[in-house]
Amino acid sequence: MFVSQCQTRAYNRLRFRRCWGDGLSFEDTNYFFGRAIDVMDVGRNIEDLLVTPDRSVSVKIPLEMDDGRIRVFEGYRVQHNNARGPFKGGLRYAAEVDLDEVQSLASLMTWKTALARLPYGGAKGGISVDVRELSRDELERLTRQFVNRIHEFIGPHTDIPAPDMNTNAQVMAWIMDQYSLLHGHSPAVVTGKPIDLYGAEGRESATGRGVVYVIEELLKDEGRDIKETTFAIQGLGNVGSYTVRFLDELGAKIVAVSDVSGSVYEAEGLPVREILKYVSGGNLIKGYADSTTITNEEILTLPVDVLIPAAIGSVVNETNMHEVEASYIVEAANSPVTPRADEYLKDKGVVIVPDILANVGGVVVSYFEWVQNLQRFSWKEKQANAELHATITEAYRKVRKLAKRRNLDLRIAAFVLAIGRVGKATVLRGIH
Ligand code: NAD
Repeated sequence: MFVSQCQTRAYNRLRFRRCWGDGLSFEDTNYFFGRAIDVMDVGRNIEDLLVTPDRSVSVKIPLEMDDGRIRVFEGYRVQHNNARGPFKGGLRYAAEVDLDEVQSLASLMTWKTALARLPYGGAKGGISVDVRELSRDELERLTRQFVNRIHEFIGPHTDIPAPDMNTNAQVMAWIMDQYSLLHGHSPAVVTGKPIDLYGAEGRESATGRGVVYVIEELLKDEGRDIKETTFAIQGLGNVGSYTVRFLDELGAKIVAVSDVSGSVYEAEGLPVREILKYVSGGNLIKGYADSTTITNEEILTLPVDVLIPAAIGSVVNETNMHEVEASYIVEAANSPVTPRADEYLKDKGVVIVPDILANVGGVVVSYFEWVQNLQRFSWKEKQANAELHATITEAYRKVRKLAKRRNLDLRIAAFVLAIGRVGKATVLRGIH
């Protein structure tokens, strides 16, 4: 196994310049940061300031289970940078969640919000827990206990959480309620809430919709017809299922989809609507018997035009990068391609649309929700979708233009734009 040379080093230049890890890690995100810094004119002091998280909070969360046992969980909130506005970022509930992963995701949020020109910084949080082991009541108590321990660090004008893997509108409703018990009525403390509780129309589908808006722009630039383009999508949760749905509405040829339980493949195209209906009923793909079953490894190396990882991190990595056949990878998930695989695939000519651009739609419509909450006003979904389209196409166009002008890949161009904006705000505010 590859062992990173940098793991024992602190925040020195090497940490984010020449090193990469072997999983979804802060070191990996900083590798891309370092590659962007290499082509920018940024002072050493500012580099260190931009790469280091402002604050990392770890909390112990004791939970009384339904059967009376006490279990203890670890929770995190990392606030990476707030030079451009309040910290903003999702909450992930998964067994693999740890401080390093949360730091990585928090820094991605800093670059993501800057790329979309949202008046936010970046944060992320999570709890190390396998949600399948919890009842609904246990999940609610765990969420409320977590809020009890982090409420002093979050708030409508300081840090605004949102959904991520294994958290949803209901979890956001519990967060809003618990925070409001402690601080008074505060709908704007969290986004991604249910429509009936200060949520925004269009938020639930926003990330998948944004992924598809980016794909439409990409295919236009590449002179390709979406109806003649084949897609494989890994993950059928919030992001994956809406991505599949909107691609299908445009007539795309979706040949493979997967979830945690397995993958299905039909070279001539899958019956997508039927599969989405099956999965939305709470079923797992492995029980869907009407298409050819393949493994979760095989879906990543199918002969398709576009591969869309929309599940977990580091799935395209040094073990499978040589087998990847897609011409385009659109990163709907966060950090699905490791730095080593990114370098290899880029050299091979694969175009990778980076996570900070491809999946920015969620935080864009979260921003709309927050603004509506603060103004006690609500928009119709049509307006949210139109504003999302304008924001995301502008971000894509700027990245593409810079990539062309400076001969950069799309990821490094996106980082250069984002780092430039955060760096400027940092200098303008002053160092104190
Ligand atoms: P989710 O919990 O709704 O869905 C996750 C999906 O991934 C499920 O279908 C699950 O079965 C599948 N999955 C899990 N492990 C898998 C594996 N090993 N192989 C194949 N499939 C697997 O999560 P989500 O909200 O859709 O988030 C997915 C990704 O998108 C994450 O990386 C998240 O950080 C990122 N993201 C989410 C949002 C958002 O608004 N929800 C916004 C930006 C980025």
